[in-house]
Amino acid sequence: MTESDTRSDVVVIGGGIAGLVAANRAAQLGKSVILLEKGTDEKYPCNTRWTGGTFHIHFTDPLSNRDKLLSVIESATKGFAHKELAQALAEDSPRLIQWLWSEGIRTINLGGYHTCILAPPSRTGPGLEWEGRGGDVMLRTLEANLRKLGGRLVRGARARALDLSSPDGVVVDAECGGKTTYFRAGDVVIADGGFPADPELIRAHISPHPEKILRRNAGTATGDGFRMAMAVGAAVTGGLDCFYGHLLSRDAMRNNRLWPRPYLDALVTSGIVIDGEGRRFADEGNGGVYMANAVARLNDPLSATLVFDHATWTGPGAKSIIPANPHLPNGGGTIHKAQTIAELAGMIGVPAQTLQEVVDNYNRALDSGTLDRLSPPRRSDWQVTVFSNKALPIKVAPFYAVPVCTGITHIMGGIAIDANSAVLDKNNKPIPHLYAAGTATGGLEGGPAIGYLGGLTKSGVTGLRAAERIAQLSSPTGSQGA
Ligand SMILES: Cc1cc2nc3c(=O)[nH]c(=O)nc-3n(C[C@H](O)[C@H](O)[C@H](O)COP(=O)(O)OP(=O)(O)OC[C@H]3O[C@@H](n4cnc5c(N)ncnc54)[C@H](O)[C@@H]3O)c2cc1C
Repeated sequence: MTESDTRSDVVVIGGGIAGLVAANRAAQLGKSVILLEKGTDEKYPCNTRWTGGTFHIHFTDPLSNRDKLLSVIESATKGFAHKELAQALAEDSPRLIQWLWSEGIRTINLGGYHTCILAPPSRTGPGLEWEGRGGDVMLRTLEANLRKLGGRLVRGARARALDLSSPDGVVVDAECGGKTTYFRAGDVVIADGGFPADPELIRAHISPHPEKILRRNAGTATGDGFRMAMAVGAAVTGGLDCFYGHLLSRDAMRNNRLWPRPYLDALVTSGIVIDGEGRRFADEGNGGVYMANAVARLNDPLSATLVFDHATWTGPGAKSIIPANPHLPNGGGTIHKAQTIAELAGMIGVPAQTLQEVVDNYNRALDSGTLDRLSPPRRSDWQVTVFSNKALPIKVAPFYAVPVCTGITHIMGGIAIDANSAVLDKNNKPIPHLYAAGTATGGLEGGPAIGYLGGLTKSGVTGLRAAERIAQLSSPTGSQGA
């Protein structure tokens, strides 16, 4: 590569939605842009390419007004979301959708909270389907737009280190085809997707057994941005121990027809989840994402089993998007079925007396309206904007048990940023010339409620804001580091 091939106003690290939105917006605002993408394929994998494609904020229409979105963010995260980031997301979520439309990205309205889903939609069946679907089309469109604006996406370029001390601006050390190449820029945006595919960081923050957790993601976000940011003094947010993900059939650890869908949230919130001893260990009424985190925290994340009855299997079990009934058995997922709870206990290898007691206590508490007095307590209904599922009795034979695993899609915490997507140091001050966007960043999701807001909208908004701040500070009236 020549000198001019490696010098630009802005270097963006990572070609998912966050990186491509930042790169395109910066180019629109007159910046020369190089985007480094470690994937080598034309259609390099990343979470954005594999996405389900629904833009939302905690299952709420992203085109809703600011006040509504702000109150959804506050209640979903129980106040955990950093106020200025929550405001930025609520304010710019409609603007992001309009900006994407102006870039030629098509969304369709499938009702419910799927008011802005990337077209064509990817939710057509079980397993993974991405080629020619919304995420794939969006990335290809944004890359083509970037090229028209004079920007470049360099494939096979893995950023490894940052030097912020050079008088030349920021230097990004990247491995390109086995060789080290130095890219120089006025500003850098880290948009590498965080660390949902990095066993070492998962072990440090989420579970001592990363090998027992399903990678419900593209496997490309391996914490490079996180490590680079730490090395130059960035702060990290809370929520590093929380992730967005779902409980799936345990067979999904080996069977690709069983992930990323069907996931088991509807059954989880209607039934009970037990550990290897046959006991409940967390409140299923807090939802599927919450329970996915609870399972990851077990000593053995591959020991949990979902228990429910026939009425649940033919009711909520058959009703969600790509429901477990019939997609789980059709895809080859194990589902134990028995006429008695004792027989079911024998099939899954937990003590029959314990499971009978757990089920009896649960049924009694449900009948008498005292689920909140169970240990652990159980909410009687799970209600999230357009969804609601009630705790249902386990009384109608046959009884069912589904061995589960937990799958991580993306981490909720990450690099600390301000509302302009500037990376913050440990004194909460922006680190000059360094920005981060997308699921590499934290401060919005997580906390004790495992508040989940939605990766696409957050990633797009933080990408837009990074580019706009860079352009603002480098304009004749702007001042860096303000
Ligand atoms: C199956 C599935 C379904 C989903 N459904 C939804 C949904 O319906 N709604 C929703 O809101 N969210 C959904 N998500 C999550 C959403 O897709 C992600 O939150 C979002 O796409 C993240 O975008 P990103 O740009 O931060 O990261 P990514 O899309 O992961 O992009 C990061 C990029 O950085 C590159 N990279 C990594 N390290 C380096 C490096 N050192 N140098 C250069 N490049 C690097 C990677 O190769 C990758 O291309 C889903 C995700 C999955 C997997």
